[in-house]
Amino acid sequence: TSYQSVALIVGVTGIVGSSLAEILPLPDTPGGPWKVYGLARRPRPTWNKNHPIHYIQCDVSNTDETIAKLSPLIDITHIFYVSWMGSEECKVNAVMFQNILDAVIPNAPNLKHICLQTGIKHYFGLFETDTKSEPHDSPFTEDLPRLNQPNFYHNLEDILYEETSKRGLTWSVHRPALIFGFSPCSMMNIVSTLSVYATICKHEKTPLVYPGTKASWNCYADAVDADLIAEHQIWTAVEPNAKNQVFNCNNGDVFKWKHIWKTLAEQFGVEMVGYEEGKEQVSLQEMMKDKGPVWDEIVKENKLVPTKLENIAAFWFADIAFMSENLLSSMNKNKEHGFVGFRNSQKSFVSCIDKMKAYKIIP
Ligand code: NAD
Repeated sequence: TSYQSVALIVGVTGIVGSSLAEILPLPDTPGGPWKVYGLARRPRPTWNKNHPIHYIQCDVSNTDETIAKLSPLIDITHIFYVSWMGSEECKVNAVMFQNILDAVIPNAPNLKHICLQTGIKHYFGLFETDTKSEPHDSPFTEDLPRLNQPNFYHNLEDILYEETSKRGLTWSVHRPALIFGFSPCSMMNIVSTLSVYATICKHEKTPLVYPGTKASWNCYADAVDADLIAEHQIWTAVEPNAKNQVFNCNNGDVFKWKHIWKTLAEQFGVEMVGYEEGKEQVSLQEMMKDKGPVWDEIVKENKLVPTKLENIAAFWFADIAFMSENLLSSMNKNKEHGFVGFRNSQKSFVSCIDKMKAYKIIP
């Protein structure tokens, strides 16, 4: 085959990386036919094996290893950076991205465009910070100034702007809302986290109790389907009007956790208990801290793809989602520039569960 475009997906086993790995090689994907390199830290997981991509195992925080493994890939035309180290530490996250660009840019003469995924923490700050500055008011728009506090998103953007302007490349920054996706190797997958919680409740014959705050139960929230982010990134990769821009990315609708909770209970056939008046937030991370062996038993009983509780479920992340409110982001700039993709968030939530069930990641 002669390829029109050649992608490097950095973080190919992650929540958006796995959607890109599925969508980019399809025959009707814009900019195609695409040849795809997919890079991640661990050996190729079995569920990823049917994507027609060239898999590269590499620790991109290691400069020498990154140069050695990526400098021979001289045909790359587009980079999709959908990775982070799993902590919000600025320095290592910056080094990872810099290593990729240092390994690819001097060796790939046809490189055109770099997509960088960050997120809406750009507007309200990091989870792990003690220098809390006042968050921006929502709905968040892309033109809001940076908050006056350290954020690895700033480091990543600065590297992107510097390297692309030096080399005359185009770029795009993607700021997704909470992501609904499928990957069992993501460090922040809310759908797998809640699915595992529901599965454990069912196994232990306890009701699915909403552990969050009253405000989070009742407020409007938004999310984005991982496949839609992949479509969004591919759109910026091929659409001249989308070059050198920052874009938010959400499903284009709103939902309430109280409605998702009902859906979650139905999907797993458990009884649910919603928010109860006067109740304080209970930490899911605390509630689930001894459930590792229970999950191992569920995996064995149902002959699931082997996973460890601490990898497939990020209960700390659910704790944050269930105390958050007013984090909506605006899609107006996207529409003004011609991106009109959307998903139904309820359906997107269910389709991620269906996919995890189909791949035998959850029962
Ligand atoms: P993820 O945790 O789903 O996947 C991370 C990927 O990066 C994996 O493939 C992993 O193997 C790879 N990786 C990590 N360290 C590596 C290393 N040293 N070498 C090679 N590969 C490495 O990632 P994500 O959730 O898509 O996060 C990407 C960005 O999106 C982050 O900035 C995150 O804050 C942001 N974001 C995430 C969500 C969400 O709900 N998950 C929502 C909004 C924004």
